[in-house]
Amino acid sequence: MKIIVAKGAGVCWGVERALKIAESAIKEYKKVFCLGELIHNPQEIERLKSLGMKFIESPEEAEKGSVVLIRSHGVAPFVIERLKEVGVGKIIDATCPLVKEVQKKAVNLEKEGYPVLILGNPEHPEVKGIAGHLSNPMFASSIGEVERFSGEKLGVVCQTTLSFETFLKAKELLSLKVSQLKIYNTICKTTLLRQEEAKKLAKAVDVMLVIGGRNSSNTNKLFRICKSVNENSYLVESEKDLEEKWFDGKEVVGITAGASTPKWIIEKVVNALKGMEEGSGGKRVCETP
Ligand code: SF4
Repeated sequence: MKIIVAKGAGVCWGVERALKIAESAIKEYKKVFCLGELIHNPQEIERLKSLGMKFIESPEEAEKGSVVLIRSHGVAPFVIERLKEVGVGKIIDATCPLVKEVQKKAVNLEKEGYPVLILGNPEHPEVKGIAGHLSNPMFASSIGEVERFSGEKLGVVCQTTLSFETFLKAKELLSLKVSQLKIYNTICKTTLLRQEEAKKLAKAVDVMLVIGGRNSSNTNKLFRICKSVNENSYLVESEKDLEEKWFDGKEVVGITAGASTPKWIIEKVVNALKGMEEGSGGKRVCETP
């Protein structure tokens, strides 16, 4: 069995940056609160907890005078205000600069008089953060929902992990129905490259594994893309989810991973696959080019 790991698999630079900021904050302040999950990956969350990071769901849970980290997804301005009201001592902002750029674009569209539509999942923290910068945000999480929009003027930004196909379809639809359309492709290039690479790899292999948290939006999108071109695609959070039967009679396994999957988890999955080969008495031969 040959194992091919996609070059772009794993943590994107925005999440890596947030992790580095988090680790140096823990070193400096010992006790650091993180508002929401820093990374949508249960294993990595456990590791951060073991270093001393405390995860909270709302500003009210932060202790007075404490240090609070804002994760790569960013937050709405009212959340920062609330943290200040609660009396936290320091706010460390690890919002990905690309997400900040989307927030800025959305705000500028509103200033220019465009009603703003966000293409993405309204429940996703990044989308909530972008929406929180606007006075009257609108949302469409599918092409079916995009069809509801028409009229004089519309400004559009997208969640950084939106699929490129959805963006193109939405653009095509809206150009027909909106007279003054200003639409920004704010999909992160890392995401685009990862999606293209995953699709190409999934087409070329017998089994495709997508590693990442089941609660991670971009991991789920990657999985859907792979599944659309290769029926034998599986989403796994860790090596524990692997099932030997998936690999029976298969020769080539492709691996990609979501933007919130650290390298050490990918390595564990690769090693577990190699372990299967050993367990099969040499019937399977693993190699990672
Ligand atoms: Fe930033 Fe792109 Fe990573 Fe999102 S996927 S955190 S936008 S680098």
